[in-house]
Amino acid sequence: MQHPDLCIAGAGIIGLSLALELHHRGYRVTVLDKGEALAESSSAAAGMLAAHDPDNPPQLLPLASLSLSLYPHFLDRIHALSEIRVPFQTHTTLQSVPSHIAGTGSELTVKDLSHLLPALVPGEHQFILLDEHSIDPRQLASALLAAVRATTIDLQPNTPVLSTRSIGDAVEISTSSGSMQAAKFINCAGAWAAVSSHQLTISITPKKGQMLSVVLPPILPMHFVVRTPDIYIVPRTTGPSAGRAIIGATVEDIGFDKIIHPADIDHLRSLATTLLPILAGARQLEAWSGLRPATPDGLPVLGALPAQPNHFIATGHYRNGILLAPATAKVMAQLIVGEASAIELSSFSPTRFSSELTSP
Ligand SMILES: Cc1cc2nc3c(=O)[nH]c(=O)nc-3n(C[C@H](O)[C@H](O)[C@H](O)COP(=O)(O)OP(=O)(O)OC[C@H]3O[C@@H](n4cnc5c(N)ncnc54)[C@H](O)[C@@H]3O)c2cc1C
Repeated sequence: MQHPDLCIAGAGIIGLSLALELHHRGYRVTVLDKGEALAESSSAAAGMLAAHDPDNPPQLLPLASLSLSLYPHFLDRIHALSEIRVPFQTHTTLQSVPSHIAGTGSELTVKDLSHLLPALVPGEHQFILLDEHSIDPRQLASALLAAVRATTIDLQPNTPVLSTRSIGDAVEISTSSGSMQAAKFINCAGAWAAVSSHQLTISITPKKGQMLSVVLPPILPMHFVVRTPDIYIVPRTTGPSAGRAIIGATVEDIGFDKIIHPADIDHLRSLATTLLPILAGARQLEAWSGLRPATPDGLPVLGALPAQPNHFIATGHYRNGILLAPATAKVMAQLIVGEASAIELSSFSPTRFSSELTSP
């Protein structure tokens, strides 16, 4: 029976970036999604490539740094296949930092801020300036999908994976439309990727994020992201969404619920308006929500599943999946084909939540 070398569950940014990387290496790849490709968390994101957000767990930095270094090449590959160029929207972030980090010499005074963004009211916040890019995840989603469709990758929407099992050197995958076999199976199902068997438990929790977009007032030329622990304002500077800003986001632990609550959207607006009072009258365009895939320690889960031959998992990217996609694709491809990984992956081990598998 003719079957693909690799079958990926989940056509979010993680699954499709990995599919492109494996296809580039010459493998036959099938991607199955329970719904439409890129219709979940990956198109709900703000698009900050926030490798140096002080709220990130420190163990994330090597993967985040690798991903930043791969981003230009990742976008070039997508461009070459899709003929769609995804530009960076911003190149700088004004990051609010706790007072123990401020004082290192890189913080900005109110005078500096008034030069950079005259409308900002810093209040209690101390800011530093980060060299950080952002992209528009919707633009990236269109380009990534076009890139995948320009290849021989077999993308099957509306085909949920129901179960999998190892048989000899292959994996049998049961879907809503029958069974298939692949040499290897990779679970990239985002917030739905939890694994629970008698050998292994990987807890993935959906963390809901609600966001909105507004039209930026024409007298506010905003080319920076502004981010505090409570709120971020991400301007779109080029492309179809130029002239608007994304304001986000809630972080909620309420299961697989994507309902948008006007009171939460109003609260986000009022937090943004405290920093940038000029946004008070800005016209709202949209509100939406998405489900971030979160692990108990806030780090991704990347690797092979023990006791389930030829099964791999890549999920748990929580607030940074857009940032981490190129590096995830690279290290997962290296693992799958048996190459040494570009970075040390023990912090991301799938067995780290199962004490009997991690104890010496
Ligand atoms: C409001 C918000 C703001 C964010 N902002 C940023 C940001 O600024 N920067 C950043 O880097 N990240 C950000 N993120 C995080 C980022 O969006 C996620 O980490 C990333 O999208 C996760 O990608 P994924 O491919 O794992 O998941 P998803 O995009 O959710 O894709 C998972 C896919 O798996 C499919 N699936 C599920 N179950 C099955 C099954 N049984 N069979 C087949 N398919 C299945 C789903 O249908 C879905 O398409 C944000 C997220 C949210 C919600």
